[in-house]
Amino acid sequence: MTMNKAPQTSIHSQRLHRRIEELAQIGKIGETGVCRLALSKEDRAGVELVMSWMEEAGMSARIDPFGNLIGVLQGRNPEAPVLMLGSHVDSQPYGGRFDGAIGVLGAIEAVQTMKENGFVPAMNIEAVAFCDEEGCRFNKGLFGARGMTGKLEEGELERADKNGITRRQALLAFGCDPAAFEGYTFEEGRIAAFLELHIEQGPVLEALGAPVGIVTGISGPLWWTVEMTGFAGHAGSVPMPMRRDALVGCAKVIVALDELARREPGAPTVGTVGSLTVFPDSRNIIPEKVSFTVDLRDIELGRRDERERELRSVIDKACAEHGLRYTIREDTNSEPRYCSEWLKDVLRSEAAALGLTPPELMSGPFHDSLTMSYVCDYGMIFVRCKDGISHNPEEYASPEDISLGAELLYRAALSIASGKGDG
Ligand SMILES: [Zn+2]
Repeated sequence: MTMNKAPQTSIHSQRLHRRIEELAQIGKIGETGVCRLALSKEDRAGVELVMSWMEEAGMSARIDPFGNLIGVLQGRNPEAPVLMLGSHVDSQPYGGRFDGAIGVLGAIEAVQTMKENGFVPAMNIEAVAFCDEEGCRFNKGLFGARGMTGKLEEGELERADKNGITRRQALLAFGCDPAAFEGYTFEEGRIAAFLELHIEQGPVLEALGAPVGIVTGISGPLWWTVEMTGFAGHAGSVPMPMRRDALVGCAKVIVALDELARREPGAPTVGTVGSLTVFPDSRNIIPEKVSFTVDLRDIELGRRDERERELRSVIDKACAEHGLRYTIREDTNSEPRYCSEWLKDVLRSEAAALGLTPPELMSGPFHDSLTMSYVCDYGMIFVRCKDGISHNPEEYASPEDISLGAELLYRAALSIASGKGDG
């Protein structure tokens, strides 16, 4: 895709970038990094700042019991199914400034531009910052989106973080009341469509020289927590044949997962062990217990299922070999979810009006959209990011590219909310 000159944008780019910068100051690590763990003090401060911008944009804003921040722009028919825009503002412990943030601030910018231009949408528009998209703190993501759409599972409030703080305690400290979950039901059909702007978090758009892309679907992840148990002993005295070393068993699984994910060259399969806890964690004690996470993804569910079966047999074999017991807890298991055709059409034609022909691509990472896909039509816009780096303080997307993405979000929302297609 080539572009001779930057197209005129209707949104207020400077305001958008000022807000991105300002939000990045909260929980700032190093020069460019961010740590705003879900339901932390930093997260709360971020949410409050974003809330003030929602009000400035002409929305009424509130935080729901699940910790979601929701801003509402009144439409001509408040009874009609709403158009929802948004993403998240929580981050990884070692995260960047743009992941999630541009989707929330882009949504606010879109609404504020409408308001300033005197546009009244056909239906209410809701701009949302979903709670705990990342899932790193309680080992299960998309909490706010699943809460809002009535998809929470048994025991979620009892999940604890590394410091033993449960989700229930964290929600209470955040100012939310988990008691309000009782009796909450999602009103089917209340959301007409959901649009999310997000950085790509991968290298595809950059390789194609394209500032923005249209997402075709999201390949859902399989998340496990695996626990292997052997027997502790003195590192200096227990002879090798007598050992039941849980960490050695675990090491074999880590290597095997990497090999399984690489097996088919060119396939988008990815496998990661990103978190490991060793007990008793001492240099001269044989590791007795190891708990680690598994993240396995593929756009083709059949291939992912096959890799999953193989990984299970690797775990079984490694444990037999080293005299270990094991448990596998499945934390998340999502199938691929595809974006709706009519929203892709809207995005294509609005992009064309901007002089763009965005490439279309699948998303390996999951997003709030994954959850929303179960209750409404959804569409996603990706913004090019440098070297595909994300979940890292070095994450970078240029202001020009972000502005283009936000402009496309604005124009698509304007088209949907003008109500031309009613009837
Ligand atoms: Zn994100």
